[in-house]
Amino acid sequence: MRGFTYRGPGRPAELTELATPTPGPGEALTRVGANTVCGTDLRILRGEKSKGVEVGVVLGHEVAGYVEAVGEGVTGFAVGDLVSMPPSVCCGVCGPCRRGTEHLCDDVHLVGYDINGGLADYWLIPRAAIERGQLVKASAHLEPAQLALAEPISCCLNGMDNYRVEVGDVVVIVGAGPIGLIHLQLARIAGAAAVVVSDPSATRRASAEALGATVTVDPTNDDLSAVVNGLSAGEGADVAVLCIGVPELVNDCLGLVRKRGRVSIFAGLAGEGWSTIAANLIHYKEITVVGASNSGRENFVRAVRLIESGAIDTMSLVTHTFGLSRAAEAIEFVASGEGIKVAVVPD
Ligand SMILES: [Zn+2]
Ligand SMILES: [Zn+2]
Repeated sequence: MRGFTYRGPGRPAELTELATPTPGPGEALTRVGANTVCGTDLRILRGEKSKGVEVGVVLGHEVAGYVEAVGEGVTGFAVGDLVSMPPSVCCGVCGPCRRGTEHLCDDVHLVGYDINGGLADYWLIPRAAIERGQLVKASAHLEPAQLALAEPISCCLNGMDNYRVEVGDVVVIVGAGPIGLIHLQLARIAGAAAVVVSDPSATRRASAEALGATVTVDPTNDDLSAVVNGLSAGEGADVAVLCIGVPELVNDCLGLVRKRGRVSIFAGLAGEGWSTIAANLIHYKEITVVGASNSGRENFVRAVRLIESGAIDTMSLVTHTFGLSRAAEAIEFVASGEGIKVAVVPD
């Protein structure tokens, strides 16, 4: 089989010939259906992110595949089943795990970081993931690329559990990349009265409009806060979700929400992650600021349901498909800002 393999920071990852694994006891082997590319993959490829990424690992953490073989003792999965899983395999015993927040595990192992991922012909599901009930079987009518999006969708659900959208809320989404477009759809499902999406790219704004944005704003031209105030009787938004890692935008979000509003720093910030915060806005407006990182089993199961039911439009999120032999090109394509989600499929 082939796998798109990490070679270390500053060294180009490459498609490598690897032995196709045979599933051991408790494991399952899947034939990859699709692996969607994430901004993180681009950062790893460019050497901007190397923490936790093991040399020799097969990259890709948004994967859906068809069960090809199951190891001894695996029940509930049959050859041909379409499956996926949240990429974090947790320890189960650390503080965060015991609190039920396994996605924040102190000793986590991650698909595409230190567990071989989906930019390959085959993907081996680790025993620990199956034992913990992480592997999810999905309806066979789905395209694998749709199911691969369960990962980013589950991360957004985890984010939303923290920032909450209540029926009738005015929500601002800052950044209309794939993550912003998922938050937009979730806010709609949750009953937001209006969702304002801000992005300098006309193409991305058009996608946001197609996916249900009440209004889109070009922050380089338009006055975002005037638009938000117009929809909220001058109060400000109930929620602002930062979906692009630009430090200066943190304060914009704090300024856009109403008194007692909620701000989600959903995106990780570029570089060291520092941002100078107008803390008095939090103080005087009694703003709740939350974050979100990764997702767990519960989020993932809900994500799969949203995809299966069609409640989330995943078809229009996957705009480009590349063969596995062009994996590097597929990842670099993400940087172009063209399209929304790129899928890589074995060719
Ligand atoms: Zn991802
Ligand atoms: Zn743990």
